[in-house]
Amino acid sequence: MSKKIHNFNAGPSVLPKEIFKKTSESIVNLDGSGLSILEISHRSNDFKSILSEAQELVLNISNLDSNEYSCLFLQGGASTQFLMVAYNFLYNQAGYLNTGSWSDKAIKEAKHFGNVTELASSKDKNYNYIPKDYIIPTNLDYIHITTNNTIYGTQISSFSKFDKTLVADMSSDIFSREINYSAFDLFYAGAQKNIGPAGATIVVIKNQMIEKINREVPSMLNYKVHIEKESSFNTPPVFSIYACLINLREIKSKGLKNIELENKAKAELLYEEIDNNPCFDGFAETEDRSYMNVTFNLNDENNSEIFEKLCKEKGIIGVNGHRSVGGYRASLYNALKIDSVEALIDCMKKLESLI
Ligand code: PLP
Repeated sequence: MSKKIHNFNAGPSVLPKEIFKKTSESIVNLDGSGLSILEISHRSNDFKSILSEAQELVLNISNLDSNEYSCLFLQGGASTQFLMVAYNFLYNQAGYLNTGSWSDKAIKEAKHFGNVTELASSKDKNYNYIPKDYIIPTNLDYIHITTNNTIYGTQISSFSKFDKTLVADMSSDIFSREINYSAFDLFYAGAQKNIGPAGATIVVIKNQMIEKINREVPSMLNYKVHIEKESSFNTPPVFSIYACLINLREIKSKGLKNIELENKAKAELLYEEIDNNPCFDGFAETEDRSYMNVTFNLNDENNSEIFEKLCKEKGIIGVNGHRSVGGYRASLYNALKIDSVEALIDCMKKLESLI
């Protein structure tokens, strides 16, 4: 039997084994249809039922009413949402909270369409915290936030400050915790971290939002068109959506509360080691630490070779930090099991004992 790989990649990243089993079967024969998922029409009843079940599950898991909200499975990643949000909804002024380079990229795209007010920024400390003391102007078309900052390992824990039209990039923490999804008028996430393979982007939008669209928006970038065409204006990413569906069923049956408890247990274990092990320092401010991406550094860079060798021997992959932060980042998405965190902690303890 091959050695277990502990996959800490930031995305695409570890996924539940059930996805691989079910999608492999579907490539040969989709649910006994005699056809592969790769060759069925996106207009066939087989695919229509996959798409509608996936959409219903997203709304159901979010505890949102399907009469009030729509779920879309689009393409182009979260990066396309950066511009779609502004193209559809930015007319005068929008407020963006700048908590990292993904927020920064969203701001850059939004500036093509209107004025952007940076509500606050944590750039002064290389985004290692979530700004808190700032005033939100009253005349905004919407507020845009990034709920979890994948690169820096910070996460927003309360949304009560945002009482305006709220838009969120949830790419790296969607369905990782129980939150009030009805606080958002629109949220989006590339599937490739907590939900499924790359290729599909989940967008949940309050139907009332389409009344705000007040300019000619090309069809592919127009939320109204995608809602009216039930997320099949053009060919949707059929295979990725099917894989997402398998995982969404798991998420639904496990429940967000249980998922959150598991994620917190994993992250707290690792943060405890970071705080107690003299070889390491956490990167993010303690109160803003992410439960999804744990960022940390070695106190002495000279130990990097030995630490990385220990990790390699244990089958640990994907822990190198993003180039803009350096150090290490352990991504603890839903599908990562606690034994992987324990394996990483073993390496950290071993390093401490060796030096
Ligand atoms: N937003 C966040 C928070 C991310 O972590 C990422 C990718 O890692 C993106 C946006 C970009 O997503 P995509 O590659 O789907 O455009």
